[in-house]
Amino acid sequence: MKLYLASSNAHKVEEIRRMAAAGGLPVEVLPASDAGGMPEVEETEPDFAGNARLKALALREKVPPDAWVLADDSGFEVEALGGAPGVRSARYAGEGAGDADNRRKLLREMAGVPDERRGGRFVCVLALAGPDGGLRVFEGTCPGRVAGEERGGGGFGYDPVFVPEGFDQTFAELSSATKDRHSHRSAALRELAAWLREQALQ
Ligand code: IMP
Repeated sequence: MKLYLASSNAHKVEEIRRMAAAGGLPVEVLPASDAGGMPEVEETEPDFAGNARLKALALREKVPPDAWVLADDSGFEVEALGGAPGVRSARYAGEGAGDADNRRKLLREMAGVPDERRGGRFVCVLALAGPDGGLRVFEGTCPGRVAGEERGGGGFGYDPVFVPEGFDQTFAELSSATKDRHSHRSAALRELAAWLREQALQ
């Protein structure tokens, strides 16, 4: 099956492609640019699932009728900040803010917060839109904590300030294979893969 990714975030696209290949998903993964590009979507919903659905439906309009569309909406929730940045993760430091601005703001907000109160988690919701008009969502989370400072040059977004549970290194210090095994995105993709397997059996 042809699966178009409703994202213009090159890092997300790369991770999903890599994990789909490693997990043997029976899909041909295609970028939104192969369908004329990802339309501009205003993320107006209050939760990840709502925004993932908006993105999937926006690209659904542009792909061939027999193709599938997969959208990712994700973010970082920090307990000591009442779940912020949450759905505003990409815009945490303001409209037009970049990853580095968002990380700096997060570390500022968390300055002086002791280790035992630095818990947080990444959340990923994948919305899959099918040729039948159906729309399903799959969620994955990755628990961990906010580092005291930025560390590592890999990954993207909040990776340099996130230490996943069971590790001392940030996601930006760990290999991409290790991130792929433990990330919120891989957890959501495993749910999706299980659903695809179930469908194949019916
Ligand atoms: P979205 O593109 O609107 O879903 O925004 C996602 C936000 O969460 C961006 O700020 C990303 O940098 C951040 N984010 C999502 N997934 C990851 C990840 O795997 N690592 C680091 N940051 C992430």
